[in-house]
Amino acid sequence: MNGEPFTFLQALYEGVEEGFLTFTAIHPDQHRPTPSRHVPIGDKRLLMDTLSRLQSANAQGWGAYFSVSTRKTDLGRWRRGGKVDLAALPALFVDLDGNRDVALRQLETYRFPPSCLVSSGGGLHVYWFIQPTMDWVQASLVLQELASELNGDATNIAQALRLPGTRNLKPNRNGALCHLISLHPERRYQLADFPTSSTHSAGQTLPSLPSITSKRPNPRLLQAVVDCLCREYGGFLKANGYLAALCPCGHCRDYPGSHFGLDPVRGVATCFGRHGRLRLKDLCSLLHIRPSQYGGLYASR
Ligand SMILES: [Zn+2]
Repeated sequence: MNGEPFTFLQALYEGVEEGFLTFTAIHPDQHRPTPSRHVPIGDKRLLMDTLSRLQSANAQGWGAYFSVSTRKTDLGRWRRGGKVDLAALPALFVDLDGNRDVALRQLETYRFPPSCLVSSGGGLHVYWFIQPTMDWVQASLVLQELASELNGDATNIAQALRLPGTRNLKPNRNGALCHLISLHPERRYQLADFPTSSTHSAGQTLPSLPSITSKRPNPRLLQAVVDCLCREYGGFLKANGYLAALCPCGHCRDYPGSHFGLDPVRGVATCFGRHGRLRLKDLCSLLHIRPSQYGGLYASR
């Protein structure tokens, strides 16, 4: 079997610990059912079996695709999954359909050297490997921005792309091989490295809170929580008003905003990883903040 799909997938999903890889066979005539298979991360035997079946299907005229984001569950044979099914995004990418040489030249001087370039058998797929993220809002913005900056097609976080090492069987592509042009797995980025026009220039000053007039959580306490998250957990205020930070519960792989966000007005903290919703009281105790020192959990009227 051609080892290229495996080499590519191994590099792409290196930092991903759980979830499912989703593979789909799509016939170029677009009118047939599109079967998928969801392979648990780490199940190498099932992965090899799936890749070999996908290559047989490819030899029989089907396009072979993989979904860049992992899925949370095995979605079964007839579902590829949408935004609610995603577990983690391991790379940013663009799909460039124009002149390949122009695109390659443009990328040579691009400020983010790509981790992987793939000739899609018609155009170019460009990948930047990142620490896997679940910050779907920011990831979507960055994908949009990359596409517009590099004149690529619109992409989305639930995207499936052609698998390197398989043939592009669209009528006008003559079975051109989709293949790796370059692979630099050592070029790893974080989502936060890719600014969007709506991203605040991550200011070093601590954000101050909007004033609160209703009863609600105690603003002095919330400010102490925000200060602590900014000081000790890499926190910063995002354009959407949420505070991104490392999850105070701890993850073996994390970066500010990857899992954890705080609504600094309502005092609601959420870890999109395994820790879920955190009550203000519990957040305070994780941060060693005593609400009583700030006048209690709730604002007095
Ligand atoms: Zn967490």
